[in-house]
Amino acid sequence: MAFAKKSLGQNFLMHAQTAQRIVEAAELPERAVVLEIGPGTGMLTSALLTTGMSVVAVEADHTLIPTLEERFANEVAEGRLRLVQGDVRSVDLSILPEDYHLVANIPYYITGELLRMFLSRSQKPRSMTLLVQKEVADRIVRDPKGSLLSIAVRVYGTPIYRFTVPRGAFVPAPKVDSAVLSIQNISKDAFPTQAEEDWFFAVLRTGFGHKRKQLVKNLEALVPRGEVAAVLKSLSLPEKVRAEDLSLHDWLSLAQTLRN
Ligand code: SAM
Repeated sequence: MAFAKKSLGQNFLMHAQTAQRIVEAAELPERAVVLEIGPGTGMLTSALLTTGMSVVAVEADHTLIPTLEERFANEVAEGRLRLVQGDVRSVDLSILPEDYHLVANIPYYITGELLRMFLSRSQKPRSMTLLVQKEVADRIVRDPKGSLLSIAVRVYGTPIYRFTVPRGAFVPAPKVDSAVLSIQNISKDAFPTQAEEDWFFAVLRTGFGHKRKQLVKNLEALVPRGEVAAVLKSLSLPEKVRAEDLSLHDWLSLAQTLRN
């Protein structure tokens, strides 16, 4: 597809069947409202609408909007599809109801940013089902302790690896395979206060600061060394433990105890 814009991470799904499988993997309730990021040429949008969902689709590339308007003229007229032109990171999303779901084949260049943005915002989706790089889905789901990203997702919801999508399913084909990642049971109140949320992420980010260093050494940037050692001991964690050895439960206990 000669017109695909690399800078916007445009890799379009080729088969309606793959789009249908993504919608099934999302396990949406009947007539849910879905936010779709980057509808592109509308392959996934079509599968969502066919299943009876209402869709708010945000597309950054203004040149794609007329084709989408034409393709889905009926659904737009019925009010089942709202097309919004703009960058999802800055458009006004207040038109979404409280209990919306996110389903998208997102551009790889902003995967991490979008995960952070939608999991930590006050208006969180009920669930997120996303096509991401296979390696990212593996890191989040199959290695629950090993990365900041995995812990950062798990603190809000339950990540599930749905299925692998080979690179040949897209035009143009990306360099790597993709996978459908679903995050279910997203909690609206994972943290009682904003200050606790901010502190948890400060501890997590600092703890993972230098990959090969012990946790105590990394956390020295945030808390006096003796204090961290005492807290690790009180939580029955080894003195020389590394960030990638801690479970979500350990991180929550660590952040809470260090805060007290
Ligand atoms: N959903 C389509 C599909 O599955 O074939 C297209 C997926 S393509 C990987 C990503 C889409 O996101 C493109 O249409 C691109 O223009 C759009 N996009 C890229 N950055 C965006 C942003 N910041 N906000 C909204 N849409 C964006």
